[in-house]
Amino acid sequence: MSQEEKKTVCPTCQGKKVIEGVCETSSEWQGSKADDGQVCTPDQECPTCKGKGYIDE
Ligand SMILES: [Zn+2]
Repeated sequence: MSQEEKKTVCPTCQGKKVIEGVCETSSEWQGSKADDGQVCTPDQECPTCKGKGYIDE
C-alpha cells in the first residue's frame, strides 16, 4: 500500500520558501528608507508555508 504525499507548491512564494525583498517608491510605507526615496523590505521567510515551499493539504 503506497502512500502518496499530497503537497501543493506554495502560491505565495512559488516554492522559493522566501518572499524576496521589494523596493518601491512610497511615501506611506513604513519601512527602512533608502537615499533615493525608495523603501525596501528585506527577504523574509514565507509566512504562508513557513519556509517549507509547499503547503500540506
Ligand atoms: Zn511559501
